[in-house]
Order: sequence, then C-alpha cells, then structure tokens
Amino acid sequence: MTDELKNKIFSQLKGIEYDKVIDVQHAHCPKGCNLMTDEVKINGMDSIMVDLKWKDKEGKIYLDPEYGSYNHKSEVDVPDGEVVEFFCPHCGVSLTEEGEKCSTCSSPVFHIDLPNEGTVIGCLKKGCFDHRLKVVSFDSMHLELDNDFIRVIM
Ligand SMILES: [Zn+2]
Ligand SMILES: [Zn+2]
Repeated sequence: MTDELKNKIFSQLKGIEYDKVIDVQHAHCPKGCNLMTDEVKINGMDSIMVDLKWKDKEGKIYLDPEYGSYNHKSEVDVPDGEVVEFFCPHCGVSLTEEGEKCSTCSSPVFHIDLPNEGTVIGCLKKGCFDHRLKVVSFDSMHLELDNDFIRVIM
C-alpha cells in the first residue's frame, strides 16, 4: 500500500467511534503509569485500577476491562446520580478530561490512554456509564485491501 493511499484511508477513518467489544489489556494515565493490575480480576481478566474520590470518601475502583461491560468493583459505595473523580493511583494525576462533557448528562468525563489503541472516555456520574472509545491511533489496526473493498479489523 502506498503512503498516499494509507493517508487517504486514515483521514476517512478519523473520527469514527467504535462500540464493539474490545478487551483493554494496556491502560495508562496521562503521565504514562500502568493502570492495569492483576490483584483484582474481573471475568478472569486484569482490571484497570484507579483512585476514586467522592465527597470525603476515597478508595480504589477496579474498572471492568471489557469495553461495554460494567462489572466494576468499587471500595466506595457511591449512590447512582453522584459524580465522582478518578485519579491515577501511582502519580495522583487527575483523569478528568478537561473540556469534554458526557454527551448524555453533561457531567465531567474521565480519560484513560490505551497505548497504540486509542482512548477510553467515560462519564464520571455513577449510573450513567456513557462509555465510548475514541480511536486516536491506527497502529494496532490491520487494514486489508481488496480492490475497492476495505476492511478494518481492530
Ligand atoms: Zn500516573
Ligand atoms: Zn453521563
């Protein structure tokens, strides 16, 4: 494939949001700390560990690594409708994505980097779970070209 053709395809793909099942295996905070842990497994898979703060309560929350699945395990019991904050458990950086709001409820959203795969953005309001995956890189995609037919596999 020529670079010119590749760029053309990528520019057409940019902005597409995927909602199929993706198992997260690598997740980083914005500073690059590894958020995956094998201390707590969800459906047999390593979970994504972040610090949760709600009012004066703090604890770990283990996020379900299966995209679109919400079997999170939280040490803090948060009632539905409450907005929480997520922080990196290693360097303490806030995972709140400035300038973005949940498209459903306008609450703040969090942001987790998936190296070479993209970004997970999720609502911080308990019970909303407006997850979506933003694809910011195509390194992990395989492109198959067959005449006019283009298939994208993640
Ligand atoms: Zn960090
Ligand atoms: Zn929301």
